[in-house]
Amino acid sequence: MPEVFLATRNAKKLQEMQRILREHVPDIVVLGLDDVPAYDEPVEDEPTFEGNALLKALTAVAVTGRPSIADDSGLCVDALNGMPGVLSARWSGPPKSDERNNELLLAQLEDVPDERRGAHFECAVAFCLPGGPEHVVRGRMDGRIIREVRGAGGFGYDVLFVADEHADAGLTSAELDPAEKDRISHRGKALRALAPLVAKTLG
Ligand code: IMP
Repeated sequence: MPEVFLATRNAKKLQEMQRILREHVPDIVVLGLDDVPAYDEPVEDEPTFEGNALLKALTAVAVTGRPSIADDSGLCVDALNGMPGVLSARWSGPPKSDERNNELLLAQLEDVPDERRGAHFECAVAFCLPGGPEHVVRGRMDGRIIREVRGAGGFGYDVLFVADEHADAGLTSAELDPAEKDRISHRGKALRALAPLVAKTLG
């Protein structure tokens, strides 16, 4: 059976990625960090999502000797010139906290009118093989930042983000069914672009 290592500590992200990959490569065995000996993950200090995704996937291949997938993603807010971008996870400083990140986002956008609250999520997913080629694909989800948190699903900034596809109903990504978030999300789009390559390479 084809086997791939998914290098992420974010349990929600791991679930999302497993779900999407298995839809396209049904018999794939997806290993997580708990299935391999512990190792030091690299500092994500690249200026781009692609750079950080590659850094994480190449480190995973070097340590585990297995085909590995890693993603890097974040929220880019128009009125903040694309911030927090690659700094999304730790935007409000250590320790990492989605709640404080969302408070900071609301505070930064307090005086920004509705028509200038556009934002998008971006995701780069890298797939690397031992001694083999490196692949990076990208996905994007456009939408807006609302003025108060709403919803209990998803993670990160989902509670403040309304995707363009759900603008009429005003549903945040945290109020969507997981399958609907997968359908429209940056990560879903990137992984669906990668899945045929994973199937072809490992199948
Ligand atoms: P990474 O683990 O370095 O890729 O950090 C990604 C960060 O971006 C997360 O901790 C979230 O703050 C944010 N983020 C990425 N994707 C999503 C998403 O699908 N929903 C909400 N927040 C996200």
